Amino acid sequence: MSGSSGHSGVHALVRSARLRWLAVVLVAAVAVSAFLIHRAGTSDGISDTSSAVTDPQASPTYDQQRRADVTVLLDRWARAVRSGDVDALRELMDPRADPGFVEAEVRRAAVVSAVPFADFGYDLGHEPETPVPPSIAEALDATDVWAPSVYLRYAVTGPDASPTRRPVSLVVAERDGRWRLVDDADLSEYRRQTWRGPWDFGPLTVRSVPTAAGTSVVVGHPDREQFVDSLAAELPSATAAVTDFWGDDWARDGLVFVASSAEEFAELTGSDPSTDVAAVTVSDAVAGDGSRPTGQRVVFGPDAASRLTPFTLRSVLRHELTHVAARARTTDGTPLWVSEGFADYSGYRNSGADFAQLAPTLAAIVAAGGPPTVLPKNEDFGAGGTRSSVAYESAWSVFAFVADRFGESTLRRLYEELASEPTNEGPADAPFESVLRLNRAQFVASWGDWVAARSR
Ligand SMILES: [Zn+2]
Repeated sequence: MSGSSGHSGVHALVRSARLRWLAVVLVAAVAVSAFLIHRAGTSDGISDTSSAVTDPQASPTYDQQRRADVTVLLDRWARAVRSGDVDALRELMDPRADPGFVEAEVRRAAVVSAVPFADFGYDLGHEPETPVPPSIAEALDATDVWAPSVYLRYAVTGPDASPTRRPVSLVVAERDGRWRLVDDADLSEYRRQTWRGPWDFGPLTVRSVPTAAGTSVVVGHPDREQFVDSLAAELPSATAAVTDFWGDDWARDGLVFVASSAEEFAELTGSDPSTDVAAVTVSDAVAGDGSRPTGQRVVFGPDAASRLTPFTLRSVLRHELTHVAARARTTDGTPLWVSEGFADYSGYRNSGADFAQLAPTLAAIVAAGGPPTVLPKNEDFGAGGTRSSVAYESAWSVFAFVADRFGESTLRRLYEELASEPTNEGPADAPFESVLRLNRAQFVASWGDWVAARSR
């Protein structure tokens, strides 16, 4: 996916004949919310923005008072959920709150304590409010009904150095002088939706494990407990392997979610990946100044537990953690053959598997039809079937070729040059020339010869 927001890129590593059933990276699943947060600073007509210039002695406007009251409500809500205090939670519910919402909140409060949160709260946003649908407002018959912009703000102890924020489509009502919660259902007609975390999908299985620079965390559900344990067991060596390849300049720990259903997988990735996808890496929008993005998560799909072998589990996890490590230095225009090939090279590095095992589809095609003459295109990666397999295998083979012929430090320099190219699949001869002293055509021809020699 290369959306018009310019933030996304789905990188599907699909199954080929033997070893592959892999991965996707979807960056900036939450680009929209990040954009809205950012935009708040320049929007006008927001009550508490204007409050900064009003006389502090003056009594608050209705909007200011409402924001203050609802902020207190949101703080109590977060405390009640996080502490599992069901009585306090029910106290915060409007008498006419949606019963399904109330019960979902009670269920969430029962499981959320399993997660080691460093931060968990709700923030009022600054976007212009959306109207409350008349059908909801009339049924409530309250003094006031409000649909403010609200964000869940959370950080997991260990991997999250700073919190991330996700939207909540909240409706609150005031009656008898008190604001209370009504519902958080999506209001698609107003483009409002509530992000659901793993804790909204039933009981949790959580493992924290010491890794290179701190603590990594795996969050899944009891029906995937063995898989969660396998990932926790792999994380220390995976973080060490990615650090050995990439260096120390990344968080060197990871937050891994394991989805138990297609619905949960879609929610956690902010996309609708095929269940053929083993894993997706997401992050908040990248600042572009080299700083580490917030909200980085590796999300495994519902079929991963049954379909990944010990070998592919290891390589997928390393592949995804390579995306995490490289994210701050990957632009929205980085071609997929660069980001996927680099991650795959890292994922399979030191695995002992040879060319025929790692690129069987490519090898068969090249043996029959001759060497590749073009680098894979972005659209090949998500095309599915053989075309995707060939794209991923080709991308891997480009970096395997560079490592074999020029060494890994040159490979790393080439990646950085290619990944920072502003254009999307443009001619981009410069990195090949500056790093390898080859023009693009010479590079592609040398790579093709290298592949052909291994495909006989
Ligand atoms: Zn990938």
